[in-house]
Amino acid sequence: MKLLKSILNFFNPQEIKCVVCGVDVEKHEHGICSKCKKQLPFNDHVCLKCGVDIRTMNDFCDMCGKNQLVFDEARSVCRYEGEAQKLVLRLKFSGQKYLSKPIAHMMAEVLQKQNWQFDAVTFIPSSDDTIKKRGYNQAQLIANDICDIISISAVDIAQKVKDLPPQEKMDYHGRFDNMQGAFKLKQKPPQSLLVIDDVKTTGATLNEFAKLVKKHGCKKVYCLTFASRVKQVPTSQL
Ligand SMILES: [Zn+2]
Ligand SMILES: [Zn+2]
Repeated sequence: MKLLKSILNFFNPQEIKCVVCGVDVEKHEHGICSKCKKQLPFNDHVCLKCGVDIRTMNDFCDMCGKNQLVFDEARSVCRYEGEAQKLVLRLKFSGQKYLSKPIAHMMAEVLQKQNWQFDAVTFIPSSDDTIKKRGYNQAQLIANDICDIISISAVDIAQKVKDLPPQEKMDYHGRFDNMQGAFKLKQKPPQSLLVIDDVKTTGATLNEFAKLVKKHGCKKVYCLTFASRVKQVPTSQL
């Protein structure tokens, strides 16, 4: 299996074949054919703060209306479902590192539409245990690819120090408490940062990261993820 993975990564199939359906692609399509790209669950009307896809005509989602998130703004390319979710799971758990490139290109397209000024790009760190098991941090791979596209270098400024109990079964507030003290800085952060991650669920991870860098002098924190989990909106608000 390891050999197959390294062969796959060596040949970088995203340069030639669509990563979803396998048809030949042109170089400018960056590994995903236009037909498959059109079918991805792209975000449409998003919360101006956390970037989650909202089904109301409000500017902010119900959670951002009630809570003070520490990061300045977050955006995601897609909702975490369907083919977008499959791409993330393949990148994360099937060793298909080459998927970071098409994902990064779609994220760079969203990034270019934002009016964000940042001094450096960084990524949400993985724990040493995860890196040992997986061999890489997918957020770092994506950040490196985005940096290649926008010609800026990625900085590795933090480490994950707390082994967290699984968050799946926690409620919204439980996740925020659970993240406290999860990261430690390795160097002083710049004045403004773009933070990259693969998926945003409640925003608790990005928020904890933003809290830490802001405590150490960073003034602006923007977050970009490939996917974000959609919140359930009560039907009365639809
Ligand atoms: Zn395709
Ligand atoms: Zn929001």
